[in-house]
Amino acid sequence: MTDAGPLLTPVLGSLYALQVPIPYPMKTVTVLLDVPAHGPVSMVDTALDTPEAQAAIEDGLSALGLHWSDIEQVIITHHHPDHYGLAGVVEERSGAAVHMLDVEIGRGERYWHLWEEWLPGHLKHMRDHGLPQESLASMGADNRRGRDRVHPASRVQPLREGQYVSLTGRDWEVLWLPGHADGHLGLWNEQGSVLIAGDAILPRISPNVGLYAYTRPDPLGDYLQTLGKLEALNPARAVVGHHGPVMEGVQARARELRGHHHERLDFIAAQARQQPRSAYDLSLAMFNRELNISGRRFALAETLAHAEHLRLLGQLYRTWDEGRGVWIYHA
Ligand SMILES: [Zn+2]
Ligand SMILES: [Zn+2]
Repeated sequence: MTDAGPLLTPVLGSLYALQVPIPYPMKTVTVLLDVPAHGPVSMVDTALDTPEAQAAIEDGLSALGLHWSDIEQVIITHHHPDHYGLAGVVEERSGAAVHMLDVEIGRGERYWHLWEEWLPGHLKHMRDHGLPQESLASMGADNRRGRDRVHPASRVQPLREGQYVSLTGRDWEVLWLPGHADGHLGLWNEQGSVLIAGDAILPRISPNVGLYAYTRPDPLGDYLQTLGKLEALNPARAVVGHHGPVMEGVQARARELRGHHHERLDFIAAQARQQPRSAYDLSLAMFNRELNISGRRFALAETLAHAEHLRLLGQLYRTWDEGRGVWIYHA
């Protein structure tokens, strides 16, 4: 495969990164295609279920001389709609088994199957942390739009941290990189010093680390540990979900992101010391700009992840305000 066309960026051996359009500010998500001489034809991440994304993937497949039915293995880094959305479509068209980390199957992936049942809890969690009543309905509608672009897989096979999968005819180690998603998976090839990182680290934006009703209790604590892991791993190159497809300088970027989160922790602690308030009110101080409803949701979840991390460290405590029906954080 010498000329795979303009859509595809060669990564390592038979592995190519395809930039697939998504209607989000990041513009594209990275889908990996692997056509090794020995080993399964594989896809890593699937993009969002939109006609544009499906067409882009078809173009990428055909540039490599492939059809949907040739795919033998699908691995998904995490459950977010832009990475998992087409999982069920790829599964139906190829018959390939879909794989995710065991932790992600039990939480994020389950979220898509139990979406209707979990939505009330999801909204209650936001309301209990101060989201105004008038924003709840539009947040529910925004969530539904996201759900409509996800076609869940019927069966997902679990991968475990430390096990190996075959890509490029070589072994890649399965890593657990929680924080941005509870069961975020990475794939590490030591020989090539290449990490398939998904959204665990990104070059231009700080991956959202949010506390939702269905997440592990301390996603920021998880993420700070993931940054430590990435710093120690020090890959020469990482294939990233957005603003890539390939980045260098992972170690320096991990340090920079840790500094960024430490600054935010200090900011939240200082704000709560100045005046005790809800996570939503803290989020208005931390993200002090115009945001649409999904931006506000990310801002609240991210602020809450920081506030709860401080609470679990014993640096903040919270009380229930019965009159307003919200949790209040105090220093
Ligand atoms: Zn993501
Ligand atoms: Zn993403």
